[in-house]
Amino acid sequence: MKYFDPHIHCLSRTTDDYENMFLAGVRAVVEPAFWMGQPRTYAGTFFDYFLSIIEFERTRASDFGITHRCTIGLNPKEANDEKLADEVLERLPEFMTREGVVAAGELGFDSITPAEERALRIQVEMAIKLDLAIMVHTPHRDKYRGTVLLMDILDEMGVDRNRCVIDHSTEETTKLILDRGYWAGHTVYPQTKLTPERFANLYHEFGIERMTLNTSADWGKSDPLLLPKTCAYLERRGADRATLQKLVWDNPIQFYGAEKLALPAGCEPFDPIAAEATHSKLPGAATH
Ligand SMILES: [Zn+2]
Repeated sequence: MKYFDPHIHCLSRTTDDYENMFLAGVRAVVEPAFWMGQPRTYAGTFFDYFLSIIEFERTRASDFGITHRCTIGLNPKEANDEKLADEVLERLPEFMTREGVVAAGELGFDSITPAEERALRIQVEMAIKLDLAIMVHTPHRDKYRGTVLLMDILDEMGVDRNRCVIDHSTEETTKLILDRGYWAGHTVYPQTKLTPERFANLYHEFGIERMTLNTSADWGKSDPLLLPKTCAYLERRGADRATLQKLVWDNPIQFYGAEKLALPAGCEPFDPIAAEATHSKLPGAATH
């Protein structure tokens, strides 16, 4: 089995994680731009962050045999600082058009405020204009209402539903999302969001069409190996390997688009020497 994690925040993970991910079969990832925990106070810190996931993280992942792509966007939570948001939105297109950027995201709702809706609409316009897929973050509180509202806005703006993933879906929303023709993204976490067991129930109910599975592993309690672990659990619950392979490899490729992803043929090799030298090899890194 090989795995494509279509939503993981590698910048907050260690090289041990990369090594373990490679050994478990992870060969490709997409890292969406998100909230870093500490609220940002200068627009410049967004831009440096975007460059980190466009350049630095791509090289770091590649040394561990993992192809790294990213999405760029102003996250919903920080859209509420409107002055800062305006400065970020203004320069977003120059980052969205960089090589390796495969979608606009994470966009969506956090607290479902007018400022979040405004930033969402501006970025959806950009995505349509730039012909980018869209990754939508759904709120953890008030998920059902937020998800319906998000899809209403996307419909109204005329997006191509087949190029929109509504992420962090749960039992509350998967049917709703699939019925409306969008992709449903599922995040497995050790405890919160979906557990492997809860995802297995969704798998048995809905199958794999327009379904994706991700870890959203970040700086919180999360697990970058939950793709292989969830598949092992699904096999135990009777899933066949060929179907699982489609879910965790073919589906994210279909969603982002093979041409846009430009994955290297035969995957990248794990290079233990490059991995060892990572910190000194990267552009701008101190030599010691
Ligand atoms: Zn995320």
